[in-house]
Amino acid sequence: MANDPSYFAGLDIGGTTVKAVLVNHHAEQVGPLVEVRSLVKNGYEATFGQLDNALDQLAAGAGIDRSAIAGIGLDVPAPSSEGVIWGRANLGEDWVGTDIQGKFSARSGVPVHMTNDCNAAAIGEYALRRKHLGSLLLVAPGTGLGGGFVLPGGRCYEGANGLALEVGHISVPFREDDGELPVCSCGLKGCAEAWVSLVALRRRLRLELAKPEWADHALNADPAPVEEKAFKLRDFAEKGDPLAVQIFKQQGFILGYAIADIVRTLDPGLVVIGGGLAEASFRDQYLAWIEEGFAERAWPVYRHSPLDPNVTTTQFEWAVGGDAAAAIGMAYTAQEMFQ
Ligand SMILES: [Zn+2]
Repeated sequence: MANDPSYFAGLDIGGTTVKAVLVNHHAEQVGPLVEVRSLVKNGYEATFGQLDNALDQLAAGAGIDRSAIAGIGLDVPAPSSEGVIWGRANLGEDWVGTDIQGKFSARSGVPVHMTNDCNAAAIGEYALRRKHLGSLLLVAPGTGLGGGFVLPGGRCYEGANGLALEVGHISVPFREDDGELPVCSCGLKGCAEAWVSLVALRRRLRLELAKPEWADHALNADPAPVEEKAFKLRDFAEKGDPLAVQIFKQQGFILGYAIADIVRTLDPGLVVIGGGLAEASFRDQYLAWIEEGFAERAWPVYRHSPLDPNVTTTQFEWAVGGDAAAAIGMAYTAQEMFQ
């Protein structure tokens, strides 16, 4: 491979770190995952400096000259179109309306393609399943509820304006005990994300802890703010705590219910569940709750073939890429596009 000059980098820009991966012209990872601090709040120029650091480290880790990097894939935690971010999300103000893709391409001297982080993670999950040739839907509960859709062959469907697959904001018919639809972080009411996200966990936990039945719960005695308690909920669920289990069960069920409508639109065949719960010890149970919600809303043909009941029409799997999925996806994309 020494005489083949083509390597491709994937750079995943997050709020706290930039993760970077290098692949060769066969889309095989070369060298280790590189992580550098993210400086997004200091503006895009400061972040470009960090991306340069990451590229230097990738080249050093793979034992190649940096000039051998022939293309770069970049992802950001914000909706973007043609390399321009349309909303602020977790980034500093100077990112919005700037041609990030063009500017970083000019700076690095190689072609750059940019998309959002959920699209990138979906492509990463596709790239890591080398035997999977069909399409793939990624749904990832985290701080919010993100999604991405990869077409057969590995190209991500981003929509006409880069605004497709905002799966967290499809509406679901679930109401709080007072009959109201919960308000989402986007300002709308009744979004799936208002039930399936870290933000939702906080609201649900606050409401549940106020009920008499949980008066003696350990989290009620805990003086920490509800934001911190919500982080502890996963540990509680792993130990079988009834309150934590109830909250995650509801979340999983509603996630499955929402996925049914996305599957009815896209019929992806494979649904990959991403986010932090992919590492939870109760994830099998959580997936069973997702499938319960899915069965409630999806017609039987979306679960089993009417010709052969042993043939599953919608397969559910956990994400396998972990924190590196988005960087892997963008390296794969760069290899596909710029080879
Ligand atoms: Zn919303």
